[in-house]
Amino acid sequence: MILDKFRLDGKVAVVTGANTGLGQGMCVALAQAGAKVCGVARRSCEGTKALIEKDKGEFTEIIADLSTTEPIARILAEAKAAYGRVDILVNNAGVIVREDAVNVTEDDWLKVVGINENIVFFMCQTFGKEFIAQGSGKIINICSMLSYQGGIRVPSYTASKSAVMGITKALANEWADKGVNVNAIAPGYMATNNTKQIRSDSDRSEAIIDRIPQGRWGTPEDMGGAVVFLASDASSYVNGFTLAVDGGWLAR
Ligand code: NAP
Repeated sequence: MILDKFRLDGKVAVVTGANTGLGQGMCVALAQAGAKVCGVARRSCEGTKALIEKDKGEFTEIIADLSTTEPIARILAEAKAAYGRVDILVNNAGVIVREDAVNVTEDDWLKVVGINENIVFFMCQTFGKEFIAQGSGKIINICSMLSYQGGIRVPSYTASKSAVMGITKALANEWADKGVNVNAIAPGYMATNNTKQIRSDSDRSEAIIDRIPQGRWGTPEDMGGAVVFLASDASSYVNGFTLAVDGGWLAR
């Protein structure tokens, strides 16, 4: 039956940036759909664990700083040690630096591109090898409105998120016939730490809300339906696609 295809019972998901924001919202949704969730973060995921365990879900924390590729193999190994296998990878961890293009430093550029783009590729590579070997797997990368648009004062972020959409398509082309689905979600303007700075500027915040057809900021809960769909058998013939969860922003 069709609704059974959305269930994730017996599946194991790894989500990066699991301690807060959209990552936390997606961990909760995946667990509610039946998945066992490994949350990767550089600090405690206590809040996420509590939300999942309240609903009798299973959650394991993997502490790792994704400033370098060094912890990637360990993340896969710890997830397999916890639950025996991995079926779903959500590359969510990301950073943003707001600065005029003429003032962006090389350090800031490399930091943003490092975690948002390079780590996403190498996480995909490590987990992709595992998924190809087992003949199945779901990869969900987190893009942005700035995978489509230029944005204002965030050139490194725009560059990295545009690249994530490209990586998603490139890997889907290589792995679709191996049982591995690679897709992405492009969140619109969501109320998390990522947007704290622009939400505190009342003129900017009002201008953003005015442009969103739904007339409100998105929330971590708004990511739930899309991530469960892309993680489940319900999306088995969906490859290389970026699904916007944006309250209509792109339609405007
Ligand atoms: P957030 O609350 O700032 O979450 C970002 C997550 O990434 C946090 O868990 C953060 O951990 C983690 N992270 C950053 N650097 C890390 C590192 N070196 N190692 C490990 N984890 C690291 O913002 P969010 O909105 O939930 O962002 C989640 C994703 O959605 C990001 O990729 C972001 O670009 C994307 N996105 C957000 C929006 C939006 O409007 N909010 C829109 C489009 C796309 P710490 O808490 O330790 O910093």
